[in-house]
Amino acid sequence: MSTTEKYDVAVIGAGVSGLLSALALGKEGKKVLVVERENYIGGTCRTYEHQGYKIDTGPHIITRLDTGPLRVLMDKYFDVIPYFVPFGKYFLRINRQVKQFPWSVKDWMMFELLPVEDRSMLVKIIFDVAYMASTGVDMSRVSISDITPRSLSHTSHAFIDYLSYFMLGTGPANAPVSRFLDRKSYKVEKPKEDNGLTIPYVGKAYNMLVGGRPTDQFYPRGGVQTIVDALSYSLPEKVKINLGDELVKVDIAPNGLAQMPKVTSTTTYKGIYETDTVIYSGYATDLPRLIDSPLPSYYVDNLKKIEKVNSLSVWLGLDEPIFKDEGSEMWVSTSPDTFHTWMIPTSNYDPTLAPKGKHLVGFAFIVPPDMPYDKAEEKARHTIFSNIPALESHMNMIHYQHLVPEKATWSIHAGFGDIKTPVKNLYCVGSDSFKRSMGLTRASYSVHKMLDTLGLEGNLNLL
Ligand SMILES: Cc1cc2nc3c(=O)[nH]c(=O)nc-3n(C[C@H](O)[C@H](O)[C@H](O)COP(=O)(O)OP(=O)(O)OC[C@H]3O[C@@H](n4cnc5c(N)ncnc54)[C@H](O)[C@@H]3O)c2cc1C
Repeated sequence: MSTTEKYDVAVIGAGVSGLLSALALGKEGKKVLVVERENYIGGTCRTYEHQGYKIDTGPHIITRLDTGPLRVLMDKYFDVIPYFVPFGKYFLRINRQVKQFPWSVKDWMMFELLPVEDRSMLVKIIFDVAYMASTGVDMSRVSISDITPRSLSHTSHAFIDYLSYFMLGTGPANAPVSRFLDRKSYKVEKPKEDNGLTIPYVGKAYNMLVGGRPTDQFYPRGGVQTIVDALSYSLPEKVKINLGDELVKVDIAPNGLAQMPKVTSTTTYKGIYETDTVIYSGYATDLPRLIDSPLPSYYVDNLKKIEKVNSLSVWLGLDEPIFKDEGSEMWVSTSPDTFHTWMIPTSNYDPTLAPKGKHLVGFAFIVPPDMPYDKAEEKARHTIFSNIPALESHMNMIHYQHLVPEKATWSIHAGFGDIKTPVKNLYCVGSDSFKRSMGLTRASYSVHKMLDTLGLEGNLNLL
């Protein structure tokens, strides 16, 4: 094993969180080593060829691209920015009927896919939530089930179940209402002076009342790979990536009189590297076994409680464009034989993702963690073809992906990681380290928070 190459920072993992961290730190003057166990970069954000189709790792839309955390990082650190196509509309498919998602009270009242008496109850819930939040109720402890009237129809319960799984990765009983009150504009949390006059933000609930169709969501033309390509192109020479290598342990040592031990070096399968700082972007749940000394039990016990989201994506190649609208369909399942699913016809944004004249459609399913892959695939196929039987005869390609879209559910009862760890100069990034938003937006928030934390701890002077 080779030894003693010295780096300011070792970044573990070359997914979007790791690459964003390496890019920012490299551009801020640090000498960075990225260690990635696969032979490719991008992690769960890649595009690859399969039978002539260009397939993303799961159907994606990128949110908050107007002023959100990824936009801020792109503007500051990217040398080239991907071309983003506006995402279009959201449609809901319930019991084989399709309608646009209701974004305002008026739309809700006209939304015929749910019974009329349920619609007024749902609008009342939105008012109640906005009122509760404005009077200071801690909405992070109130679950979606808590505010859902039992008397709602089976279809409306299925609809709420759908929103909960796709926005939080967990069912209504564990889903905190606070997730729906998230702020829109980007701002990494900083301690605020509270003069007692602050009115709690009720963003999404308010949007629902006045009509707030999102306009900040986009698809990257060429597939999600273009984000990773732009990142990799922008990396300065100070950043080196070692593919096909894996973190074995983060070496730590006592830190003078301070209680926290500190990072000394990084051991991978291929070498030992002297590193002042480690940014870890793998699963936070794996961290305790990657540190060569026991961590405090409060920290380890919390990590044990993290629940990952498990997903299956099914990609269909079709011999003609069946879904003509730009945007996506949310298919709400009202039967135990089918899954909820989210469908995006990605070749509508970019016809070059499919062979000439063909159509590429991705379906994302959230599946129970203990469900065998073949059973999940069977139920997914049943979901697709029982809803639209004609798809089967138009299909010329089917492809399955079993992936983890979020490393932590946003659940009232589950654990959630943190940027800081009990080891000085060891930080985590990724979708299990910062509880805000979802997907790439959440990953980007975590990188902002990590950069802020490095700055506050005297390890980084941002340019
Ligand atoms: C089906 C699906 C749909 C999605 N839809 C959306 C969407 O619509 N919008 C959106 O914004 N996001 C979406 N996402 C989520 C988005 O893709 C992820 O949030 C993002 O890619 C996570 O990036 P990451 O770097 O945090 O993690 P990862 O991509 O998991 O990267 C971690 C990397 O670390 C490496 N690694 C782990 N442990 C080690 C180790 N010990 N040593 C070396 N390397 C290691 C892994 O190999 C991996 O490359 C979706 C994801 C999926 C799967």
